[in-house]
Amino acid sequence: MTQEKEACGIPDTCSRAIPLWLVLLDNVPTLTMYALGTAIMWPLGWAWAVAYLAYSFVSIVLFWMRICPYCHHHGTLACPCGYGVLSAKLFPPRRNRDFRMVFRRNIILVFPSWFVPAGAGAYLLWKAFTWPSLWLFVAFCVVGFALIPLISKLVGCRNCSIKEECPWMKPKG
Ligand code: SF4
Repeated sequence: MTQEKEACGIPDTCSRAIPLWLVLLDNVPTLTMYALGTAIMWPLGWAWAVAYLAYSFVSIVLFWMRICPYCHHHGTLACPCGYGVLSAKLFPPRRNRDFRMVFRRNIILVFPSWFVPAGAGAYLLWKAFTWPSLWLFVAFCVVGFALIPLISKLVGCRNCSIKEECPWMKPKG
């Protein structure tokens, strides 16, 4: 715990441990979205689908590398999705830049995981409509654009101790 407090720098707020169910609630929908996105991309060719899946996992590692080290939750169990712990195993903490600025500059790295399958799905529906493709597309959009943001805003990040300084929770702050 001492190590966590040191990594956090805010002992009173970052020493709590997020329960496993909450970490799973944050991550399972994301993995589901990747699976749905891969299925949407498959008709374009297996290489596109595999490239999408590979990029999605690489983008998570890039998130750990470029964003998490600047966060107070880096190296603590207080991170709502567990990335803070995993990031600390690979990347040292960095406090030499403002977290909000780092977040805003790098969050674009994960956007392709949402928008590439959405665009590909819309294109495929336009070119060769099938009902299974439509349901896949709808499921992807519901998970990616409704369920994941809702879980994050209403559960995962809702009680985060540093939400006031997070651009995701306070975009205009
Ligand atoms: S709260 Fe966000 S930025 Fe901070 S360690 Fe967790 S995933 Fe990374």
